[in-house]
Amino acid sequence: MNTQKDKISHLNQEDTLIIDEKYYVNDYYQLDLNQLNQANIQAAKSGKSKPETYQELMENPQPIIWKGFENDPDLAEAPIQIEDAFGSELLKQCLISEVDYQPNIYFCVINGKEYFIPQEMYQLNAARLKPNKYRAMNSSDFIIHHSAKAYYRTPIRIFAFDNSEGLDQKYLTHIDDLTERKRLYKIGTIIHEIGHHMADIIVKQKKDNWKKWQEIVSQRPESMTSYSKKYQGDDIQGDDIYFCEEFAEAIRLYTTSQKYLRENYRSVFDYIQSSFPQIKNIS
Ligand SMILES: [Zn+2]
Repeated sequence: MNTQKDKISHLNQEDTLIIDEKYYVNDYYQLDLNQLNQANIQAAKSGKSKPETYQELMENPQPIIWKGFENDPDLAEAPIQIEDAFGSELLKQCLISEVDYQPNIYFCVINGKEYFIPQEMYQLNAARLKPNKYRAMNSSDFIIHHSAKAYYRTPIRIFAFDNSEGLDQKYLTHIDDLTERKRLYKIGTIIHEIGHHMADIIVKQKKDNWKKWQEIVSQRPESMTSYSKKYQGDDIQGDDIYFCEEFAEAIRLYTTSQKYLRENYRSVFDYIQSSFPQIKNIS
C-alpha cells in the first residue's frame, strides 16, 4: 500500500519544497480510501465477496453521518436541507455512509498525485495549486460491480472551498446576492457527489435508464456546465465519465438552479423529474 510518505519521495525537488514532511498530516484520508479500495479489489478477486447484498443493505438502513458542517455558516443547514430535498428513502438507496466536510483541508493534485494540504500551506501556494484543485470526492465507483451482488456504503469527502468559488457559474448568475450564490454553489457541490452515488448505484442498475440518459446527453453538443465540459471527450459515446459528470451536474442544477435547468435543458429536467419525482428544489 502506498503511504503518503512514499508518494512524497516520488516528488521532484520543487514539490518537496511545498509539501514537506510536516504537512502530510492527512494519512487518515489517504489510508482510509486506500483501504476501502484494497478491500473491494480483494473481495472482487476472491469471487466470494461478502460485504452485503443490496437487499441486505436496504433491509438494515443506517442514517448518513454528517461531519464538519456546523462550523461553516454557508453549509450549517446543508445536512437538513439535503435530507429534506432527497428524502430518506432515496438517500438510503444511494449507499452513502457519511458526508465528511473538512473546511480547512485542500485536496490537490500535483504531478498526478493526490495531497491533502492544510489551509495555511495552501494559501501560500494558492496560485500554483489552483489549476489542479478539487473540492470533493466520492467512492461510489469503488463498489463491487453490480453483477457480483456485493455492495458497500461508502463516504463522500468534501474539502475546502475558495471564497470566490462558484460566483461566476452561468447557472447562478441570475442570483444577485453573492452570499446566496456562494451558498448554493457549495451545497450544490455536495449534491453533485450524491448525484454520482445515484448514477453508480441506482440508475446504472437499470440499463435502459442509463441508456436513455446517454442519449439525452449525446443529443446536446454543449455541456450543461463548465465543470462537466472538462470531461467531454471527442467521442462521448465511449466516455462514461462524461455521462457520469453530466448526471451529477444535472442533479446539482435540478436542486439548486431548477428554473435555469428547465428553461435551458428541458430534456434533462424531464428525465430527472420522471426518474426521481421525490427530489425537491431547494433554491
Ligand atoms: Zn463529479
